[in-house]
Amino acid sequence: MRNIVILGATGSIGRQSLDVIAACGMRVAALTANRSSRELEQQCRRFQPELAVMMDETAAGDLRVRLSDTKTRVASGMEGLLEAASLNGADTVITAVVGMVGLRPTLAAIRSGKRIALANKETLVCAGELVMQEVEACAVELIPVDSEHSALFQCLRGCQNPGEVKRLILTCSGGPFYGYRRAQLETVTKEEALRHPNWSMGAKITIDSATLMNKGLEFIEAMHLYQMPPEKISVVIHRESMIHSLVEYCDNGILAQMGTPDMRLPIQYALTYPARVPGPAKELDLLRCGPLTFMQPDADTFRCLSLAYEAARQGGTQGAVLSGANEAAVSLFLNGQISFLEIADRVAAAMQRVPQRQNPTLEEILDADAAAREIVLHP
Ligand code: NAD
Ligand code: MG
Repeated sequence: MRNIVILGATGSIGRQSLDVIAACGMRVAALTANRSSRELEQQCRRFQPELAVMMDETAAGDLRVRLSDTKTRVASGMEGLLEAASLNGADTVITAVVGMVGLRPTLAAIRSGKRIALANKETLVCAGELVMQEVEACAVELIPVDSEHSALFQCLRGCQNPGEVKRLILTCSGGPFYGYRRAQLETVTKEEALRHPNWSMGAKITIDSATLMNKGLEFIEAMHLYQMPPEKISVVIHRESMIHSLVEYCDNGILAQMGTPDMRLPIQYALTYPARVPGPAKELDLLRCGPLTFMQPDADTFRCLSLAYEAARQGGTQGAVLSGANEAAVSLFLNGQISFLEIADRVAAAMQRVPQRQNPTLEEILDADAAAREIVLHP
């Protein structure tokens, strides 16, 4: 039976992870959140972890009072997050925090030999080479939670020789603005961007899905996870979100993974792999899912996708610059300070201005991320 730590338990992935854990009768060792002490209290009462961590100090003080009648110990800040990530007795860490803040805890979890169920894609985009080197050196399993990468992982099972893989094909819903021209994107609002047609997710990834930056980040995530060059990965628009991604082999056979759009399935598979068990995800009724369609993405209009392709080709620190700049730009957009199209403008400016480095150290990655954010905030 798995004993699990969730980093980012109160978010979209965190809550759905708890659904899976409850349905499959697994145990919870630690839960963390940023500021929502009330929700974390309820989760702790239900799952009785040994440790609870609030990133925010004031919220940690509040949670300590709330949980004073329980056995759950409360810690705070990055220290607390690192402690949770490497907790003795836990065997699996679900990284469900959003953004670059997940990098150090992910490395800590790898170094303490945990299985990593990785939702936090920004970590791989920023520091894919470093993270994958650690995974290899520590001989741990890193299993993707992102639905596309879980699909690829499933389609690659049984493949003995990576040379047999011709192409990884990432599917993309197209987001709420599919088919829009540039002029129409000029005036879209935050409310419209937050309305995703197929998935209910946290705010940052929902905006990334509207700009197609999410698919760009996933492109780089796939390169690192499966050691594939950019020319062997492609993106196809698939509005129905029934096929979660595909692998094309050298004999032109293609394997696809299908299911209802429900993150609980990839979350569960990352926890139970290599086993499969019944769980909360609903079955897909093939007779009711209608025709499945595939189209070319419009990377000129959705410029964030082109920028990500460019960062993928450039390598080195450009992943960190792309991701850091995007995080900062998305929060400006969510605060009403810049328009939808300015997200790509700001990211492009950061990519041009931050000096590039190949084979970066962790320090250089963190510096590149910080420099990119600075350019976005003060162009
Ligand atoms: P979310 O915003 O719903 O939740 C984020 C969680 O992280 C919350 O528990 C929050 O308290 C915590 N958190 C936020 N900022 C923090 C900080 N500075 N320090 C510590 N904790 C912090 O996000 P989400 O949609 O669940 O996404 C989480 C990650 O999973 C992202 O990297 C996202 O790209 C990835 N992902 C999400 C989905 C999805 O369906 N939601 C699908 C694939 C991948
Ligand atoms: Mg995804």
